[in-house]
Amino acid sequence: MMETAALVLDHYQWQAALISLLGIIVLTKAGKFFVFKVPALAQSRSDNREQDKLKLAKSKYPPIVKDNQRVGLYCNLVFFLILLPFCSTLTWPQWWQVPVNVLLILLVYDFFYYLMHRFLFHGQGRFRQVHALHHQARKPTYIDAHYVHPTETVMGLSLFFATIVGLALLQGPFHVLTIVLVYVAYVQLNQINHTYIQLPYFPFRHLTQITVDHHTHHENMHKGNYASITMLYDRLFGTYEKPGTPR
Ligand SMILES: [Zn+2]
Ligand SMILES: [Zn+2]
Repeated sequence: MMETAALVLDHYQWQAALISLLGIIVLTKAGKFFVFKVPALAQSRSDNREQDKLKLAKSKYPPIVKDNQRVGLYCNLVFFLILLPFCSTLTWPQWWQVPVNVLLILLVYDFFYYLMHRFLFHGQGRFRQVHALHHQARKPTYIDAHYVHPTETVMGLSLFFATIVGLALLQGPFHVLTIVLVYVAYVQLNQINHTYIQLPYFPFRHLTQITVDHHTHHENMHKGNYASITMLYDRLFGTYEKPGTPR
């Protein structure tokens, strides 16, 4: 019994989990500081804030956003305190393993998210009702990334964390840098795709396309574009849609 406990504690890399968390906070803050030095992006942020203010003045928005953030915090506590210490390491890997693992985690997650979104949230069962709340936003802005039913928040975050745990079980713990990059990419992409950005020229063309694709999904509950990280699976499985196509 004592030996098992010692073995488990041996693999509990709390320093790696703590450094991952600090790295995520620093990269997010520094990223925002530098990104919003670009005038076009600062203008887009203030346009979103203006719309968000109007939405938050409606009585239905604040309680949902608050619930969503509370539930998100609990899921993150479980991840950083219980799961991540067993899935992260400070042992430096081969340099190429970091970008390869970041891509691997995002692509595996997005595949399962695609299935969950298409067949559960847009299926005929009770999860359609759960997801319909998020789809009330026909023209999403930043705040709509957080206008999500708590059940959906738990399912989405659990899927992301389970992807990291599952892949770590298969191939060993991920380096802290991999965790920081993949976590920041996941959170930011899921927020950016809801923001209203109209900058269809270099170097913002791709950024604008990310928002156009997800806004198309929000036009109504019958639209495609189910994936949240890249449109790869929608293109592969024939559910990719351009804006304004009748349905
Ligand atoms: Zn949807
Ligand atoms: Zn959405």
